[in-house]
Amino acid sequence: MKVGRTTAATDPGRKRRQNEDAFVLRPPLFAIADGMGGARAGEIASALAAGALNESAAESGGEERVKQLVQEANRRVHERASSDPETTGMGTTMTVALVEPGGQITFGHVGDSRAYVLRGDTLEQLTDDHSLVAELVRRGELSERDAEIHPQRSVITRALGTDPDVDVDAFTVRAEPGDIYLLCSDGLSDMVSGELIEQILRAHRSNLDDAARALVRAANRGGGDDNITAVLFELVADDAPAPDPDDVTREHATASPDEEDTLHPADGVPVVADTPAAMDTMVVAPEDIGTAFGGPEADAQQAGTHEAGLGRRLLALLVILALIATIVVLVWWGLAR
Ligand code: MN
Repeated sequence: MKVGRTTAATDPGRKRRQNEDAFVLRPPLFAIADGMGGARAGEIASALAAGALNESAAESGGEERVKQLVQEANRRVHERASSDPETTGMGTTMTVALVEPGGQITFGHVGDSRAYVLRGDTLEQLTDDHSLVAELVRRGELSERDAEIHPQRSVITRALGTDPDVDVDAFTVRAEPGDIYLLCSDGLSDMVSGELIEQILRAHRSNLDDAARALVRAANRGGGDDNITAVLFELVADDAPAPDPDDVTREHATASPDEEDTLHPADGVPVVADTPAAMDTMVVAPEDIGTAFGGPEADAQQAGTHEAGLGRRLLALLVILALIATIVVLVWWGLAR
């Protein structure tokens, strides 16, 4: 078995100015990284992690090799975060797939990006999210339904960059010819249900570029709250004909700007300058979940955001009142003359 067609699409979504997702499309190595951190730190974190993989020798070596790759990416992000004050606290998710000769695929995974496989007509999620809500669902303290709309669903419990060492989930999947693998950021999986991802992949399996673009479009249609990235690759039999050269690895098959459903600031869609704190990705240690989940700190943070918003609105009102007063005085003065 060997890698067949491959593609990727990435899009900032409808609410964010920057794209803090990064991906690696370097068969037999594939990965996705979703960065977090203030200013441009999230972008730096995901780019450093993806860069580490791009520079690596992507030779096979099973789960140990994949763990090494993710550890090296972690080391680079952590070193930068510790030495550059502008990037303190930055981090990134990382989900890696390495196709081994013979058709085994080794995955390495940290955070809430995901790997899926479409086998036959059925989509299966391969990774477990390292997120607050996923932990609560696993403990039976939250239903899957409530998890989908939970205000703290962006809080992750593991990330690259926050510690010198990171705990990497590694596992191996025995591929079958015709399998289509998807690596994606939460900007896709939060906005598009598993059922819809399955439908889209089934409908577009003859053209993976179209499939990737359709996934991005569906995420934007679902709200586009976050950056959206999808990496797709298929496994084919060794004697399968080589894919159409037009259709092989096409990096940055980014949804074109004129795509009907991809809105830009110029389209008059308000761009949220300050994303509410609750929607920003942040990391908590699993042992701190009790406090992070609706604890007093979370309440204080929410209250802080509300007060800041109220303060801005009051200021705007005062400025408008002052302007009206000035106009009234000027008109009155003009009439009095
Ligand atoms: Mn994200």
